[in-house]
Amino acid sequence: MTAALHVATAGVVDIAGVTLGGSSPVRVIAGPCSVESREQFLQAATAVKAHGASLLRGGAFKPRTSPYSFQGLGVLALEIMREVADELQMPVVTEARALDDVTPVAELADMIQIGARNMDNHALLRAAAATGKPLLLKRGMTASVDDLLGAADVILAEGNDQIVLCERGSRTFEPSTRNSVDIAVVPEVRTRSELPVIVDPSHGTGRTDLVPALSVAGVAAGADGLLIEVHPHPERALSDGDQSLTTAGFAHAMRRVQAMALAVGRTI
Ligand code: PEP
Ligand code: MN
Repeated sequence: MTAALHVATAGVVDIAGVTLGGSSPVRVIAGPCSVESREQFLQAATAVKAHGASLLRGGAFKPRTSPYSFQGLGVLALEIMREVADELQMPVVTEARALDDVTPVAELADMIQIGARNMDNHALLRAAAATGKPLLLKRGMTASVDDLLGAADVILAEGNDQIVLCERGSRTFEPSTRNSVDIAVVPEVRTRSELPVIVDPSHGTGRTDLVPALSVAGVAAGADGLLIEVHPHPERALSDGDQSLTTAGFAHAMRRVQAMALAVGRTI
């Protein structure tokens, strides 16, 4: 593999007809952490579409810190997401947590997420890249920008340049937030790669009350998009309820994000 492959890309990623990056509008990817039922996913998806999201997200295979936490509905969740995404005519992104997940995720989703815990799992990166699907690559919780761009190079070396990078925060000594989002990563990636970059304020903070401010900050720093967790009833969520916006909270956050997008000369 040659060095610095990450400069050799078109800079625009096409996710089932929705472009992200370059001069595309700021794209908001939203939905619940985990798909818990058809009803729950449909409610979240309908609301986020109404308030300006252009892509859906949901978890089917959940990478959890504890093995006793909810692990996701698996293929059933993929089927629910596909059905609802088709109904609402929106692309959907979900994570492949392991090699075995890659084929079903590629068959049923429009974009494959590589989670923070797997950023440097090269076998998974290669298998996901080989499907030809666009990939959402999250920065590992202890990974540097170099590490992130190196992981992107593993994908590029498979001939897949449809990569969106995601800043989702790192583990630091700060106890008040789940992770520490490094906003500087957005302009830094911009100077070193043409790959689009988005911010995940949900996993980045772990706190519903901080998500709107971090969303606005991401757009102000030049992010091409945001990844936001939304649940119709966060208090009942089976995963990440503490960082999930209600549908009303999402509507409110989107108004602030839209104002910032306009201020920095972007549409949304
Ligand atoms: C997620 O987006 O659902 C997720 C688990 O994120 P991360 O890999 O960033 O923790
Ligand atoms: Mn989550």
